[in-house]
Amino acid sequence: MATNRTFTMLKPDSIENGNIGNIIGMITEAGFSIKAMKYTQLSDAQAKEFYAVHVERPFYGELVEYMTSGPIVAAILEKENAVEDFRALIGATDPSEAADGTIRKAYAESKGRNAVHGSDSDDNAQIESDFHFSPVEIF
Ligand code: UDP
Ligand code: MG
Repeated sequence: MATNRTFTMLKPDSIENGNIGNIIGMITEAGFSIKAMKYTQLSDAQAKEFYAVHVERPFYGELVEYMTSGPIVAAILEKENAVEDFRALIGATDPSEAADGTIRKAYAESKGRNAVHGSDSDDNAQIESDFHFSPVEIF
């Protein structure tokens, strides 16, 4: 059964480009509520661990460098069918393929600097939420 939570990060390009408010606005407008949120910066070790699934991919080194290049906003979001609905809201990985009305269509710069992360499964939403938040930080 699908759970009702997902995990997101507003990536460094979103912060650099001044899009925190606009993106959070799109997220809450789409019916997600915020269960946890923090403004932080990933260490090299944290980024490597978070993206460990991509370690063999050619873009891994560049991805880790980019994700540690500046602050991010991490959040746990709640909504019915959260994982699937949030992936629909963020759009395709490559913004040139992202549908109109999606966050990446509006704000991503490129396939790498693509504004937001969204968990791809309920299991990963749980793992990624636990990676960033302790129980007392979730409301
Ligand atoms: N990425 C990249 N080049 C690629 C594919 C992915 O730089 O060819 C980066 C991009 O920031 C992406 C992240 O690696 O969001 C994770 O890739 P994934 O395939 O999981 O895409 P997502 O789930 O974020 O859409
Ligand atoms: Mg992914």
